[in-house]
Amino acid sequence: MAGVWVYAEVTSDGGVDTAALEILTKARTLGGELAAVALGPGASAAAGRLGEHGAATVYASDDEVFADYVAQPAAHALHHLVEKHAPELILFATNYDSRDIAGRLSAKTGSPLMSNATDLLGLDRARTAVAGGATLVDVALEGSPRLVLVRPKSFKAEPSGGAAELVPVDVDVPGELRLAKRVERHEAAASGPRLEDAGVVLAGGRGLGEAGNFKLLDELASLIPNAAVGATRAVVDAGWVPYAYQIGQTGKAVKPDVYIAAGISGATQHIVGMKGAKRVVAINKDDDAPIFQMADFGVVGDALKVLEQLIDEVRSRTGGAP
Ligand SMILES: Cc1cc2nc3c(=O)[nH]c(=O)nc-3n(C[C@H](O)[C@H](O)[C@H](O)COP(=O)(O)OP(=O)(O)OC[C@H]3O[C@@H](n4cnc5c(N)ncnc54)[C@H](O)[C@@H]3O)c2cc1C
Repeated sequence: MAGVWVYAEVTSDGGVDTAALEILTKARTLGGELAAVALGPGASAAAGRLGEHGAATVYASDDEVFADYVAQPAAHALHHLVEKHAPELILFATNYDSRDIAGRLSAKTGSPLMSNATDLLGLDRARTAVAGGATLVDVALEGSPRLVLVRPKSFKAEPSGGAAELVPVDVDVPGELRLAKRVERHEAAASGPRLEDAGVVLAGGRGLGEAGNFKLLDELASLIPNAAVGATRAVVDAGWVPYAYQIGQTGKAVKPDVYIAAGISGATQHIVGMKGAKRVVAINKDDDAPIFQMADFGVVGDALKVLEQLIDEVRSRTGGAP
């Protein structure tokens, strides 16, 4: 049946990538029959959450092959489903695996793939931001099916209370598509909330001076409920913190209630990843820094000194408990 599909990355315990739920929520407003495709261990168990977020149908396979081998089996299975059901539009979150799968599907179907969409305007139109977010461009989608990669945090995930019909996917994946095998999995050690889900983001830039000074942000995060530490690309490139901390055009998009930018200049490529924050607090020693143009509250001063004072203040008010 023609309609809109959302490709959802799932975890073996039936968890669903938040970005897929965000896209489903938006896709509910586009009209047309809404379905989700989930491939790999945990896919069938994920059908409940996908249904709650608007999928009327979930095409699912729990086959290990989709977790063991990178992208090729999933693109093959999706292509098989596309030939059978002919959806109009398939939406993917801009995640590592989904990007790879969407690109391979585009090669198989011959449909153009639009990347980095920040809004969906209809079944044949999507919006993206270029020039570091300074210009919005509306793109007419073509092809059958139309393929779009959507930037995480472009929408808020909200359940609609529905239930999905589970349709098992039974596709034979040939040996020549079992080439890129995952040999190891590494879960980054994390104690607090995920950066993308945190209510308070404490972000550091080159103005913190050196890697060791990020411990001030870690300490502050440990005192504030639901807080996580992020960074600019400049400090990630310098190796001060892992890539997973990066916020911006080529990093993560965040939408916290409060964003504290410490020693960050406010380059457009950074702003595009955090401009959805409800409140922005900027600490910078240069009162001309562009970050102040979008800050609700600004402190002109040495970020290290201000952070130390902030830690003392929060500690004295909370007794050190988050
Ligand atoms: C294609 C492309 C993609 C990019 N993607 C991203 C991205 O995803 N995310 C991203 O962040 N960047 C990205 N960038 C890089 C971006 O253009 C900026 O270079 C980067 O964001 C700057 O990081 P920064 O603010 O830490 O450093 P800087 O621009 O060097 O700013 C440091 C700031 O710290 C202040 N400062 C210095 N000392 C102190 C002190 N003691 N106390 C307080 N303030 C102090 C300075 O006044 C300055 O404002 C991208 C660039 C390109 C070309």
